[in-house]
Amino acid sequence: MSGQSESLLSVGIIGSGIAGLVTALTLKEKGYSVHLYEKTKQLGEGTCSWFAGGMIAPWCERDGADDVIRDRGIEALNWWQKHYDGLVKAGSLVLSAARDRSEIIHFGRCTQEYETLDETGLDRLEPDLSGRCREGLFYPQEAHIDPRLALPALEEGLKAVGGVVSRGVEVQAEDLKEDIIVDCRGLTARVDLPRLRGVRGEMIRIQTQDIHFRRPIRLLHPRQPVYVVPRGEGILMVGATSIETDCQAPVTVRSVYDLLEAAQRLHPALGEASIIEASVGVRPAFPDNIPDIEQHGRVIYVNGLYRHGFLLSPWCARKVVEQVQAQERAMA
Ligand SMILES: Cc1cc2nc3c(=O)[nH]c(=O)nc-3n(C[C@H](O)[C@H](O)[C@H](O)COP(=O)(O)OP(=O)(O)OC[C@H]3O[C@@H](n4cnc5c(N)ncnc54)[C@H](O)[C@@H]3O)c2cc1C
Repeated sequence: MSGQSESLLSVGIIGSGIAGLVTALTLKEKGYSVHLYEKTKQLGEGTCSWFAGGMIAPWCERDGADDVIRDRGIEALNWWQKHYDGLVKAGSLVLSAARDRSEIIHFGRCTQEYETLDETGLDRLEPDLSGRCREGLFYPQEAHIDPRLALPALEEGLKAVGGVVSRGVEVQAEDLKEDIIVDCRGLTARVDLPRLRGVRGEMIRIQTQDIHFRRPIRLLHPRQPVYVVPRGEGILMVGATSIETDCQAPVTVRSVYDLLEAAQRLHPALGEASIIEASVGVRPAFPDNIPDIEQHGRVIYVNGLYRHGFLLSPWCARKVVEQVQAQERAMA
């Protein structure tokens, strides 16, 4: 907490995905009275954030994205360090098969802040990959979290500092009495933000006692890149597809096949792992895949977090605070 006295303005936040939770906590720390409204009763149901990899990877995400993703994402490492004990600061690793070496060269050219590792360096970091790759890129400053532990922890953290959370209430901004409303409804806000589109992301959780990874590993491939993120107890999250549709239907046979075939390329022993879940999240995205903050009257929309909700929510929340403070000064 900042120790500031309670502000005059009250803020209602709609949606307790990662955007809503980070915004609520950040506003509360600045002294605003905060009420978070969420339509689902149980954390996880229907929210995109539940299915994420939770990689806080500003440098790796520069591949295939604009510079602003990296520049706005770097502050997330400090935000998570300050707000969540479960941040795993083990870096990330990027690999390719020897025949796909051009992929890793290209990835290195697009990104920064990495060390190039040879076979010995890779063995030291991930002993279970011993002998499988000749070179890799290691991003030591990157980190990851498990969204299924982090989201409830943030919600509890918000309540602990006096934020109010109402679950099981589907609200519209015009129903709410707070001075300012922050709309963090994800794809549901498309009714008000027509530029928003859905990008389907399928993920699989597998469990094995044979392979232990310590950090997210991305395996580059010209057709089917894949990443695995360790969750503890032998669980690995395997992700993710990126399909231009807002279809929420269950994971397809083709996607399961592609993701698991790619995971087995990383290590054949993953073929013996048990599949414990296959799920879908639909990412909210604007045409340029960069998040945006728009204000319509007393409603501030935070949306379009696309593949970067955990990475970019702290930046978005800081911008919302600046906007609310400016409004407060104008009203004084
Ligand atoms: C497979 C996959 C992997 C990903 N991996 C990563 C990653 O590694 N790192 C990263 O940074 N990002 C990742 N992402 C992206 C990230 O998950 C999204 O950017 C993020 O979840 C978007 O969050 P949000 O809060 O905007 O939306 P959501 O998480 O969808 O939250 C919106 C919330 O609003 C609620 N709501 C809607 N309407 C109402 C209403 N009227 N009243 C009350 N509540 C309402 C919904 O129930 C929901 O809880 C991944 C996404 C997917 C699908």
